[in-house]
Amino acid sequence: MVKAIVGANWGDEGKGKITDLLAESSDVVVRFQGGANAGHTIINNYGRFALHILPSGIFYPHITNVIGNGVALDVDKLASELDAITGQGVPTPNLIVSERAQLLMPYHVLQDGYEEERLGGRAFGSTKSGIAPFYSDKYAKTGIQVCDLFDEARLKDRLHQVVEVKNILFEHLYHKPAVDEEGIYRELLRLREKIHPYVGDAVGFVHQALRERKTILLEGQLGSMKDPDLGIFPMTTSSHTLAGFGCVGAAVPPTAIEEVICVTKAYSSCVGSDTEPFVSEIIGEAGDELRRRGGDKGEFGATTGRPRRVGWFDAVATKYGCMVQGATQVALTCLDVLGYLDEIRVCVGYEISGVITDQFPTTPKLMGAKPVFVTLPGWKSDVRGVTDYQALPANAKGYVEFLEGQIGVPIKIVSTGPKRHDIAVR
Ligand code: GDP
Repeated sequence: MVKAIVGANWGDEGKGKITDLLAESSDVVVRFQGGANAGHTIINNYGRFALHILPSGIFYPHITNVIGNGVALDVDKLASELDAITGQGVPTPNLIVSERAQLLMPYHVLQDGYEEERLGGRAFGSTKSGIAPFYSDKYAKTGIQVCDLFDEARLKDRLHQVVEVKNILFEHLYHKPAVDEEGIYRELLRLREKIHPYVGDAVGFVHQALRERKTILLEGQLGSMKDPDLGIFPMTTSSHTLAGFGCVGAAVPPTAIEEVICVTKAYSSCVGSDTEPFVSEIIGEAGDELRRRGGDKGEFGATTGRPRRVGWFDAVATKYGCMVQGATQVALTCLDVLGYLDEIRVCVGYEISGVITDQFPTTPKLMGAKPVFVTLPGWKSDVRGVTDYQALPANAKGYVEFLEGQIGVPIKIVSTGPKRHDIAVR
């Protein structure tokens, strides 16, 4: 059976921690979309890790980790991440890199940066890791698959075709130097050797695992709000962040996905451009304090180090985010972070042009939305590491139950700290 672990919001909900936890009793963990442009923070017996491209099951010898065909594969980053974890004492992981995955190329990274520069003040706040140009090329069918690395004539030919177009773009639109086709080709052959031992038929592997009744976790990157179709377009990412896309990016049959575990934080956090609508944002000193106290080391991007914007729990966005994911249950993380507050607000509606709604709108309407809050009492105590839900203070349980009523999906897992077993299962 397949369980998807996906984000209900803007990303950084704590999916890595939940994946690492559930991997204890699973067999396979698959990354099915996105690239190395976001990170998952995992804290376990080996230390603290920020994984960008490796699946979060790599700490277990019993797990086979798969980088699925839907991923934007930056081979260089993969190779250095493998070196980094083994350097910290983690045994070499069981890893399959899909031969159908496509390669994130150096010119994708350049193009991403050049485009942000061209846009200036209108930029999207891209992480400049090449994701948008990568997926554009994939759908324009000029991408290069991992399998192409092993057919040198084909690789040369495909690379030539794409570089021809990139160089016209780079020189004439961005006024930048042409890329060195021969240099890229040689570098690809070098990197090929690094990933060669891991490359395989991930599609066949996943289907065989299902026939053997193995448990497969799909590990999502980012969250519903960042989906290019159902999120806050165009302030989204360029791959689908929804569990449903696991059927493509991990090649699992739609009927095999039995659980969709939607992860959401007990407050909101959002990375990206300041111009992005973030209705329940907390600004000023109160926001700074929550940012300092959030996550395991404050709310700063695991990949970029950028400060994340923070806000009150947004029930409108989260209810919608869970709906479009098809959530069967919710994992609520970072409850411990809120223990310092006297009162906690929850955004339960948006006021748009004088009308209050609890339905998540399209981007133009979202731009002008104002939050409608209710205020709940805080619990003023440290619940970090509490594993018995019933032992939580009454106001903390009241908060969880209030959110559950708003979202309309059972909150079955409450995370009370960054460590693997800081968890209260309901
Ligand atoms: P992901 O991309 O969804 O995996 O999320 P990130 O790893 O980018 O961000 C989540 C942050 O919250 C990380 O710093 C985690 O260590 C931290 N975290 C996860 N669960 C909890 C929790 O229950 N309490 C606290 N304090 N931090 C948590």
